[in-house]
Amino acid sequence: MWARLRLDIGWADIFYGMVQSVIGVKRDAWQTRVEAVWSPRGACLSTLSVRTGFDLLLGVLDFPPRSEILITALTVRDMVGIIEHHGLVAVPIDLNCLDLAPDPKHLRSAITPACRAIVVAQYFGGRNSLEPIARIAKEKGILLIEDAAQAYTADSYRGSPHADVSLFSFGPIKTASALGGAMAMVRSPGVLARMRERQAAYPEQSRWAYLRRLMKYAVLKALSCRFAYGRVVGVCRLFGVDYDGRINAAVKGFAGADFFDQIRRQPCAALLAVMARRLGRPNAARMAVRRENGTMLMERLQPPLMCPGGRAADHTFWVFPVWTSDSAATIGKLRRLGFDATQGDSMVVVDSPAGRSELRAAGVERIRAGWVFVPCYAEMPPGEILRLAEALSTRSD
Ligand SMILES: *Cc1c(COP(=O)(O)O)cnc(C)c1O
Repeated sequence: MWARLRLDIGWADIFYGMVQSVIGVKRDAWQTRVEAVWSPRGACLSTLSVRTGFDLLLGVLDFPPRSEILITALTVRDMVGIIEHHGLVAVPIDLNCLDLAPDPKHLRSAITPACRAIVVAQYFGGRNSLEPIARIAKEKGILLIEDAAQAYTADSYRGSPHADVSLFSFGPIKTASALGGAMAMVRSPGVLARMRERQAAYPEQSRWAYLRRLMKYAVLKALSCRFAYGRVVGVCRLFGVDYDGRINAAVKGFAGADFFDQIRRQPCAALLAVMARRLGRPNAARMAVRRENGTMLMERLQPPLMCPGGRAADHTFWVFPVWTSDSAATIGKLRRLGFDATQGDSMVVVDSPAGRSELRAAGVERIRAGWVFVPCYAEMPPGEILRLAEALSTRSD
């Protein structure tokens, strides 16, 4: 069975990280090195996660209480939690289903005098131009933050030139994963310096915690190859284990008691070293195959099936969502044919603020309710992509 996703990290990277954790290298040198690899101009800060960088940014900006932060309505749950933790109000912005870009009309109608910033995410490996949004942001005097957590594609993109801040993630399931870590590109040198200073006061991530993480994902990586995965799923079924929920829970970062205590840490030297290794050797060939496979599948989807965001500019299909009118039946059918499809649960729809239901992101709610993530990655041969396309286009019984 084809697993829903392949971890994008090699055995050599994992082994390298284990060695670095055990020998306990110095973190300052690695931080300088990884930031130089990422941005020779030095306009970036390496952090433990995108959520860490976003929390640092809001801490430094220190907006007045109840200021509004617009955010494209599809995000990971914690992003909204971080906004609220800073005493701010998250306001959802609806998206067009074809390219998952913000709807400028909806955006304009959501802007009030209390609005201070807008967070625009790039989805699923696509990258839309932020120029139209930047024009509105400039006119209204609000900050433009690009959530590029899903947007690294082993090329030279370091964030939209129109964004004030761009946040990239190298968490476990992301492209060029270091099993953690993130990069914040910050246009304002003053803001960057204050974020750096604030982070320097954080305790360091334990290298043993990072080593445990490397070991855990080594096991998950071994189990996710096609041969092993089908057997694992078979055994889970036999014992009535909800493997879908277990997998989703297993790849969740920071699931423990105090979320802010966990994210407010400096990345350990071993994590920075793995990031430097991965970012210094971008795998463009793998990305090209991923793009080809995704494009091939998208071109074969018959309406009413569609790929939300599939028409985004410069798409490399980090994951592949398919919108269907009957997601449960589609998942059942695909699993019988050896494709582990899932509804996933890491991304949520941002609620409208209390008393402002006219700001509901109805388009995103509709997409979220009917999407199914199907396996589609570089390791799958073209014949399997075609078989998947065919399975999707035939009606279930
Ligand atoms: C993964 C992700 C994040 C969080 O990234 P971390 O580095 O794990 O904190 C934020 N936003 C989006 C859209 C993501 O996909």
